[in-house]
Amino acid sequence: MSTIFSKIIAGEIPAEIIFQDDRVTAFKDINPQAPVHILIVPNKEIPTVNDVSPEDEAVLGHLFVVARQIAAEQGVAENGYRLIVNCLGDAGQEVFHLHMHLMGGRKLGPMLSRRD
Ligand code: 5GP
Repeated sequence: MSTIFSKIIAGEIPAEIIFQDDRVTAFKDINPQAPVHILIVPNKEIPTVNDVSPEDEAVLGHLFVVARQIAAEQGVAENGYRLIVNCLGDAGQEVFHLHMHLMGGRKLGPMLSRRD
């Protein structure tokens, strides 16, 4: 089923797109959790990591190549940044179109919040 990210990729709804090619689209997160918070999304609709198949290897590898390029362009490559892919409920996935968060520009703290 089509998500809001497919509409952004198709240019049907606005977003601050910072990179797009035939395989991947990257745009600023609408609710940034860090000074740099970019979503890198395969143009193909893959709902979750659970839906990844071997034929997706090339595009998913391309996400990392694009992430590296964007991190440099956004000025966070040297100090470091975090790449996050959430899958389903326990991870808090909200949009069911696989995407990589690129976050940086501040100390990001521990990888996970502490258990209560
Ligand atoms: P998830 O929790 O699925 O890993 O992350 C979804 C992300 O998409 C969230 O960080 C949320 O702020 C972002 N997001 C949701 N809707 C929109 C939108 O319409 N435009 C943009 N640019 N980001 C969105």
